[in-house]
Parts: sequence; C-alpha cells; structure tokens
Amino acid sequence: MKEDKYCPKCGKKLSLFYLKPNCPGCGVDLLRYDAEGRLERDAAQAAKEVEDLWRFLRKADKARVIERYCAKKGKPLPWEAETASADRTEPTKSQEEQT
Ligand SMILES: [Zn+2]
Repeated sequence: MKEDKYCPKCGKKLSLFYLKPNCPGCGVDLLRYDAEGRLERDAAQAAKEVEDLWRFLRKADKARVIERYCAKKGKPLPWEAETASADRTEPTKSQEEQT
C-alpha cells in the first residue's frame, strides 16, 4: 500500500522517505503547516454547519410566509402539490441514478 505525500502548501510531491520537517519546494514547516491547515478546515467546517443551519432557517422562514400567503389566498401549497405528484409517480429514481 503506497500513499503519496504532498506539500500542503505548494503541492510538491514528497518522497515517502522524506522525513525532514521542511518542504524542499517552498520550505514550509510541514508538521506545523498541516496542523494549522487542520484547524482551518475545522473552522471552515464549523462555519459551514452554521451557514447550512442559517440557510435552513431562512428557507423555513420563507416557507412560513408562503404558507400564510396560500392560506390567505386559498391556494394550495406548492410543496403539497409536489409531494402529491411524487406519490403518484412510480419510483424511477434508482434507474435514473444508475445511468
Ligand atoms: Zn512546499
């Protein structure tokens, strides 16, 4: 089993036997840079989770507005029509995914 190593900063391919702490290409501290990169990725992941939640709440908020509008105008809710038509159609989704 062989796994290539690359410099996390400049992307230079590193030998598996390259054990020095600094990248031969850009001289970055490989161990430290990787640790920092992990922290950055964690932070980015956390930010994304919050953003997803925010988007969901925004969507939910808009959904409430639409619900109120439909109730007022006596119109069917768009997602009710969606789920109703989805129930009628046969599940061909798996076939579509295969092609
Ligand atoms: Zn490098």
